[in-house]
Amino acid sequence: MKYDLLLVRFGEITIKGRNRGRFENMLFQQIKSALRAFPALQYEKGYGRVFIHLNDEEYEAVAERLKDVFGVLSFSPVVRVRHDVEAIRESALELIRAVEPAPETFKVSVKRAWKEFPHDTPEMNRLVGAYVLRNSPGLRVDVREPETELKIDIQHEAVYVYCVVVHGAGGFPLGMNGKAMLLLSGGIDSPVAGWMAMRKGLEVEAVHFHSYPFTSEQAKEKVVALAQRLAHYSGSIKLHLVPFTDLQTRLAETGNENLIITLMRRQMLRIAERLADKRGALAIITGDSLGQVASQTLGSMNVIGRTASLPLLRPLIMMDKQEIIGAAEKIGTFKTSILPYEDCCTLFVPKSPATNPNLNMVENAESQLGSQLQDLIEEAVSGTETLVLTETDRSDKSAAEDAWF
Ligand code: ATP
Ligand code: MG
Repeated sequence: MKYDLLLVRFGEITIKGRNRGRFENMLFQQIKSALRAFPALQYEKGYGRVFIHLNDEEYEAVAERLKDVFGVLSFSPVVRVRHDVEAIRESALELIRAVEPAPETFKVSVKRAWKEFPHDTPEMNRLVGAYVLRNSPGLRVDVREPETELKIDIQHEAVYVYCVVVHGAGGFPLGMNGKAMLLLSGGIDSPVAGWMAMRKGLEVEAVHFHSYPFTSEQAKEKVVALAQRLAHYSGSIKLHLVPFTDLQTRLAETGNENLIITLMRRQMLRIAERLADKRGALAIITGDSLGQVASQTLGSMNVIGRTASLPLLRPLIMMDKQEIIGAAEKIGTFKTSILPYEDCCTLFVPKSPATNPNLNMVENAESQLGSQLQDLIEEAVSGTETLVLTETDRSDKSAAEDAWF
């Protein structure tokens, strides 16, 4: 069966009171933008939902893209018919015949939102159920655990018949909850953290610290590729590439080998906060997951986090590595993340990184650098290069150019 119409249901924004209209509009625009590769589609806005006329665009391809739009709770290919029992029965039969693999059991669920419809709900159940049974040899009714649920949604303007409900990405429309900076390494975790933040309606700008020329061009390309994959979900993304070599080298020279990761992470946060201020972002997102490595123990996170005054968001904090890997595979970042290029931090990995760094010692190490620390931070900020990435192409912009404002 060829589907003509999709019903797209919105998620949590439908309970957002006063701002509901504005948020729904945002989501509507984002759906249209995500589906711009299908020019024949036509849209019809409803309350808390949207209808999409496929006009011969391929259902599977549209559905695949729609699954990645944040704020969409679910969607269904539906048949829209008049308030007419015969028409409803015919559509119901046609739809159930199209289900693959063919189900052995089904049930009819009627929602009678329009109370003036002449048949009540139990009667409609019978009228449609009996007709489908009569015309489908081998099919049985199972009201408890049906393989297929045939839904009849009787609304004021029309009746919708469907039996497929596809789960959407959920969450909120992008940007609805403001903007945050994502610390994006080349690893498995931080792209997943970015995706989760976006799903919650945050506009995300990525910040990556590199130690060129100690880290290679490929290491940078890998991060660009990860950011590009995130752009698949957001339309586009800014990636700020921060030169970290000088700062890192000076920190290493203070001779606090087992504290070096703590020291580096603190400067990363300081720089990220400066960039956040410039970009109007109100939080910093990291891929930290409790206990995963030395810098992610509670003790480390405490000492590292104290440098920051913006909220630190750690979407993965309570997730297991296997769950994070599963998510990375699902969002399409895993294969890139496991490419073997070095990261700025791996260059300086100490033999025994502190799992419980002492705040005083860390502050002392930083004060050894005196005002030079602040200068190095400023230099890193001003040397930051910003790329504006979309999923497929990319254009380079330097920090001094319009990328900032
Ligand atoms: P990931 O897979 O995200 O790299 P990880 O398990 O390797 O995580 P760490 O390397 O300790 O963990 O990094 C913890 C978090 O710090 C990362 O998730 C990321 O948010 C941030 N981070 C680490 N290195 C960088 C970097 N070079 N640039 C930007 N952010 C970084
Ligand atoms: Mg890492």
